[in-house]
Amino acid sequence: MKTEDVLKKLSLKEKIALCSGEDFWHTKELSKHGIPAMMMCDGPHGLRCQKKSNDMLGINESEPATCFPTAVTTACTWNTELLGEIGNAIAEETKALEVGVVLGPGANIKRDPLCGRNFEYFSEDPYLAGELAASFIESVQKTGIGTSLKHFALNNQEYKRFNGDSQVDERTMREIYLSAFEKAVKKGKPSTVMCGYNKLNGTHCSDHKELLTDILRTDWGYEGLVVTDWGAMFDRMNSFEAGCDLNMPGGSSYMEKKALKAVKKGDLSEEYVDKSAMRVLRMMEKAHDVLKDAAPFDEEAHHLLAKRAAAEGAVLLKNDSGILPVAEGTTVALIGKMAELPRYQGAGSSHINPTRLSRAKDFIKHAVYADGYDEKGNTDDSYINEAVNASKSAEVAVVFAGLPDTYESEGFDRDDMKMPKGHLDLIAAVAQANPNTVVVLCSGSVVECPWADSVKAVLYMGLSGQAGGEAAADLLCGKVNPSGKLAESWPFVYEDCATAEYWRGIKNPQYREGIYVGYRYYDKAKKAVRWPFGYGLSYTSFEYSNLSAEGYTVSADITNKGKCGGAEVVQLYVAPPKNGIHRPCKELKGFAKIYLEPGETKRVSFTLDERSFALWDNGWKTPGGKYRVLIGRSVSDTPLSAVVNVEGAAIEAPKWQSGSWYETMDGAPSKEDFVKLYGKEPVSDENPKKGEFTKDNTVIEMKDQSFVMRLLYKGIEKTMIKKFGGKKNCDTPEFRMFMSSSIDSPLRNMQILTATKDKIFDGLLDMANGRFFKGLFRMMGRNK
Ligand code: BGC
Repeated sequence: MKTEDVLKKLSLKEKIALCSGEDFWHTKELSKHGIPAMMMCDGPHGLRCQKKSNDMLGINESEPATCFPTAVTTACTWNTELLGEIGNAIAEETKALEVGVVLGPGANIKRDPLCGRNFEYFSEDPYLAGELAASFIESVQKTGIGTSLKHFALNNQEYKRFNGDSQVDERTMREIYLSAFEKAVKKGKPSTVMCGYNKLNGTHCSDHKELLTDILRTDWGYEGLVVTDWGAMFDRMNSFEAGCDLNMPGGSSYMEKKALKAVKKGDLSEEYVDKSAMRVLRMMEKAHDVLKDAAPFDEEAHHLLAKRAAAEGAVLLKNDSGILPVAEGTTVALIGKMAELPRYQGAGSSHINPTRLSRAKDFIKHAVYADGYDEKGNTDDSYINEAVNASKSAEVAVVFAGLPDTYESEGFDRDDMKMPKGHLDLIAAVAQANPNTVVVLCSGSVVECPWADSVKAVLYMGLSGQAGGEAAADLLCGKVNPSGKLAESWPFVYEDCATAEYWRGIKNPQYREGIYVGYRYYDKAKKAVRWPFGYGLSYTSFEYSNLSAEGYTVSADITNKGKCGGAEVVQLYVAPPKNGIHRPCKELKGFAKIYLEPGETKRVSFTLDERSFALWDNGWKTPGGKYRVLIGRSVSDTPLSAVVNVEGAAIEAPKWQSGSWYETMDGAPSKEDFVKLYGKEPVSDENPKKGEFTKDNTVIEMKDQSFVMRLLYKGIEKTMIKKFGGKKNCDTPEFRMFMSSSIDSPLRNMQILTATKDKIFDGLLDMANGRFFKGLFRMMGRNK
């Protein structure tokens, strides 16, 4: 039966119900019409398919799946084709497990290095993030499996992730934060988009008509479905009107009765419900068709692909006197627990149960090994002495270090940008014992590297997936030539970040730095970084020459000048003229990855378009003038440049610009600067008072004013402690994640995630607001 006909046969109540899932991962089955329930599963770097026990934090068991490197690492490949291959492999696994939609990729921008979920995102740059996401989506969907582009939008921190209000001006939103999504939507055409938990300029993403309809559908031509992040639904009536179709997870019937009443009373047009129900139906029908021919996947081939991706995503950050690759026959000391117990993926909803796991230690043969520190990153004299002795006994010492998994996870942000003291002490001791020390860094995000000058080489593996250990071994011995480039800037210290003074622990973030995110800030503020955006070394070297620019087409020759074959990421930046409205010094507008044999030259061409020169000023506009087009190896190494004349009207600087931070880049942007940029006063972080609480408030926010919430808080804490073996185990990411995702999740979110009916949480809210008996009656169903 055609979707339209099925829709006609459903009652209003059934249509509303269809717009909420059946359970944690499934849509509702329409057995009468021959449409089975459809399953959705995380995630971006492999499938987290839970057949038995569900959760959104990656705690309970999931089916074995290939754990590919996470986005932090795949982004460093700058290889859209490879992202496509990974997408295809994940789609095969998705199909094999009879799942209709993979919940990924994530296209959020890395606004601040401390965001706990940065490892799941690609870049600080929207062009790069958008291209990679689009390629992943296209490949997954070629197989018929759907994707879910997330978390739409401005979801850039974990602190108060469920109810924080991202306050951002229109230009910043369009140029930086929405651009990656725009590219992914227009090019990749994802079957679903997942709206974020957060509010955007005062409105929850689930209810945001401007975001979900005006921008996504009208401006960008999106035809797919919008699903909530798990528990993100705020107001079902508003969300129908806004264009948010599917409420996940299901089971709670959240606000369904109210929506039914609203349609009956004429407060909500049935047309909105029809449109959403139709999109849900289409998605389910598509999956039904595709999953008919589910087939097993090739585990070995996918493992090898994961290995190739890990190797290609590794970035060689330093290589003094060509110490790497380690020559055959060299004696090696391998130090660091991470070589034995790899840190290869992040914690949270993207956590995969890998089909296998390779340890670097097993692939770096004949090396003397020492732990150096324990699983938590702590060291002591005995660890250090053993490591020093091992280092002294070898010609080269290779130290595996980075961030243990307690440091970065979904659900909470990092406290600082430092590595554990145990790792720092170990590196210092080994570097002193052996002048040929190499550090292999394993972390999902940027860390301070005060030791960088004391070691000879640094190889950044990111979070390299289940085959990362093998990949690291191949890179160290030169079997593979590194070709990764950083997809984010590495500042010397956290304090160097534009956001450092006003990012941590803020519920309603003010995007004060505006468009000056990542290199756009360091470049303009002339602030040195340890390793810039786009940077990465190779065992060979590349020469750039013969730039030509004809119209909007720019070409250059790249030659491999070294002795081994290798791949180079050629980057194109556009530098606008310095007049009128403030702009970054340069922005990435093109890249290409090419492989060259020794002595080989290839000509690389880029064709720019209007958008390459445009900025947002109540619409995309191109200020005319002489633009410089720069081609090079990283944002701070662009040996070739040409001038391109661009036609367009001048865009005047806003009156407040002169002398503001956006022009001077002096210190940190102040609240006053932000008010000018934002055009209004930002909201404060203050908690509402008892009597004013809504279901958007969290237990933590209410507990000091409400006895009932205090009880609930204690109850949750007790339950967690019990679950974690009887102690407050803040050392595990799971414990921290569980706590923040429960006591600090709004009542509405708790209700949806625990599949509880409205009356219970409506009642709890009454109680929190001091109306105990009203709440009690409501819970018992004796009250409206
Ligand atoms: C995460 C999503 C994920 C969902 C389902 C949420 O907590 O933010 O990225 O897809 O859970 O696990």
